[in-house]
Amino acid sequence: MTQPAPRADRSAPPRRAVVTGSDSGIGRAVVAALAGAGVDVGITFHEDEAGARATAEEARGHGVAAHVRRLDLTDLPGAADVVDALVDDLGGVDVLVNCAGTGSAEPALDMDFATWRRVISVDLDGAFLCAQRAARHMVRAGRGGRIVTITSVHEHAPRVGAAPYCAAKAGAGALTKVLALELAEHGITVNSVAPGEISTPMTGQEDTDPETEPRPGVPLGRPGHAGEVAAVVAFLCSPAAAYVTGASYVVDGGMLLMGPQAGSHLGSDSWRSVG
Ligand code: NAD
Repeated sequence: MTQPAPRADRSAPPRRAVVTGSDSGIGRAVVAALAGAGVDVGITFHEDEAGARATAEEARGHGVAAHVRRLDLTDLPGAADVVDALVDDLGGVDVLVNCAGTGSAEPALDMDFATWRRVISVDLDGAFLCAQRAARHMVRAGRGGRIVTITSVHEHAPRVGAAPYCAAKAGAGALTKVLALELAEHGITVNSVAPGEISTPMTGQEDTDPETEPRPGVPLGRPGHAGEVAAVVAFLCSPAAAYVTGASYVVDGGMLLMGPQAGSHLGSDSWRSVG
């Protein structure tokens, strides 16, 4: 049986976006990039309300509407109602960016189940439920849409001390591909963006200029700017990316290419410890 053609208007730029975890770091940069393109934004924070309000002010400086709500993705499934509330605030939704995320730094052998569950809840369960809520609105509206999940290089490769983070981010990458298949007929594209080391609060580098931080193990030799990740997200949300779905865009300065090189060049066993 012939499938219905996707109904999205591919030439239409997005008008309304919900960006989870946008009080700081990459999420804040994504809001700035989308607002700069004239997109009204829904912003969420977990603990940093002042950061979220500052993100909203910056967005309004571009002449768009900005709404702020608190989201705690350890409190699921109820917390996903926040996505519905922001969609109501915005009068609809064309873009969801799953940016909220958390991690842990502990060997798997020492980890308690609560730590495992917390990271999986925020990084994987949360990404699923927020995408599901946003997609339901997009399907109902019949205008297509864009879903982008910020995963990590750990969508693709592991790290010592990050068992739940790696499991969640790899899971979010697989979820992206399933949703890309299921939502294509509605004109909704679903992609992930997989950053390497980016200077944000998560890496303790909020006030650090990545250009001044040498990283010999990264081909481009430095961490990334949050704006360098946001630029790729903004592209994926633009009409120019209408034919991109189910992809994982790596933004890592070449870090992921270094596995075999590490195998021949690492000079000590220090990588076996969490740090
Ligand atoms: P960040 O600390 O600035 O942002 C993390 C965001 O997650 C915050 O906005 C926070 O409000 C939100 N958050 C944390 N716990 C939450 C919870 N329980 N419920 C809801 N929201 C919660 O750090 P960032 O680097 O901008 O991280 C953004 C995303 O990028 C995360 O998903 C992270 O895994 C991913 N990432 C970051 C890096 C990096 O090097 N900075 C690399 C790869 C992937």
